[in-house]
Amino acid sequence: MTEEIIFDGDAVIIGGGLAGLTLALAFEQAGLDVAVVDSLPMEDRLDPEYDGRSSALAYTSWRMFEALGVADHLRPHAQRIEHILVCDGRPYGGTRPGGPGPHTLHFDRREISEGPDGEPLGWMAENRHTRHALISVLKNRDRIMAVAPAKVVNHETLSDGASVWLDDGRRLNAELLVACDGKFSRTRVREGVRTFGWSYGQKGVVCTVQHEQPHAGVAYEYFMPSGPFAILPLPDNRSSLVWTERDETADALIAASDEVFQAELENRFGDFLGGVKPVGPRFSYPLGLRYGETFYRERIAFLGDAARGIHPIAGQGFNLGIRDAAALAEVCGEAKRCGLALGAPTTLQRYQDWRAFDSATLAVGTDMFTRLFSNDIEPVRQLRGLGLSLVNKIPPARRFFMRQAGGETGDPPRLLRGLKLETAA
Ligand SMILES: Cc1cc2nc3c(=O)[nH]c(=O)nc-3n(C[C@H](O)[C@H](O)[C@H](O)COP(=O)(O)OP(=O)(O)OC[C@H]3O[C@@H](n4cnc5c(N)ncnc54)[C@H](O)[C@@H]3O)c2cc1C
Repeated sequence: MTEEIIFDGDAVIIGGGLAGLTLALAFEQAGLDVAVVDSLPMEDRLDPEYDGRSSALAYTSWRMFEALGVADHLRPHAQRIEHILVCDGRPYGGTRPGGPGPHTLHFDRREISEGPDGEPLGWMAENRHTRHALISVLKNRDRIMAVAPAKVVNHETLSDGASVWLDDGRRLNAELLVACDGKFSRTRVREGVRTFGWSYGQKGVVCTVQHEQPHAGVAYEYFMPSGPFAILPLPDNRSSLVWTERDETADALIAASDEVFQAELENRFGDFLGGVKPVGPRFSYPLGLRYGETFYRERIAFLGDAARGIHPIAGQGFNLGIRDAAALAEVCGEAKRCGLALGAPTTLQRYQDWRAFDSATLAVGTDMFTRLFSNDIEPVRQLRGLGLSLVNKIPPARRFFMRQAGGETGDPPRLLRGLKLETAA
């Protein structure tokens, strides 16, 4: 039987999650012919029940979405983040708990961007809308071949190219493979790339809530002993909750009746935005760290959660994947224009050099933050409260953290500056 080769081009992306789809568009803009393979049908990935999460998109990520044509599709469903309030401990205020706590760190976007319509600290969007926007743009790009549903079951890398095999026996050939198949990447396992990491023994319970009062674009993060409780603004008086609890409590919250969940929600959320009620289902996600020892092997790059998956405490996992995509697309676009091999170690080492520091800093930073804040030890509480208050009093420190969270670190790739990539041929 002759093997059916369905693609022979520049790059095959294994995994069409948020990171893989973003990379496909960036590669296309760099002039690469690309195939993106996912084991799930597109309709399933667009189903509201598939992923209940919303993501905070850093302002540099949004600039990249502008440059790729994604922002126009997403803007009607996205919410500007004008302020971020970080509070230590149980929220107080109103007749029930709620509102900022005693030690508060306030980030105000007017400190780093001017005018009523100045660039916000970031944007919030439901993942389903982001996925929809990415796929809408992708469907109009001739140089991108979307292959789904199709599970990658094997791959091979040679010095002059690479191949992947699908579960139905079809094959794709390319100069470069990119593994975007998530935190538990099978491609990484097949390549024998070692990882380190651990579970935090926490789960993030996620749901969308409606509240009576407008949130005014404020994102709240309360550090509770069981883990952070984040209230993230969405359009139409809605917010997305990431409610971190120890595994057993999270499981109980997911299994609870609507009445019990409502009571727990009111107790935790408070009434500072008036009455609050869940809209839509609850989801839960186990939280852990998984970090790969390398960003590449000859002819294969690792990107998004397949390169490293981190705790969502700072809302940075997808943003890291976006930054990976911006760097890899720029490096590969330049290599193609210069007639260099896309998957050669010299090309991919540039990608690793560009991404390793930011990636490691955030993995270590989020891990330290999670450990420092997910406890109720009195001296530690006092120390971190002091730290929050101190940063809150120093404007340059506040601006530094806002720019870091916005992804404005080091030497940002063109796409993160909102500039389009130069096209190779
Ligand atoms: C509770 C929570 C809140 C979060 N909030 C934020 C936030 O506010 N901001 C932020 O930036 N990040 C956030 N994150 C992190 C973010 O969700 C992830 O970093 C991001 O979704 C990872 O995307 P990915 O494409 O790398 O991986 P995935 O989403 O895991 O996608 C992998 C894809 O690969 C496909 N696949 C797997 N194996 C195969 C195979 N063999 N063949 C073909 N296809 C395959 C899968 O079907 C899937 O579509 C949060 C995470 C959690 C848990």
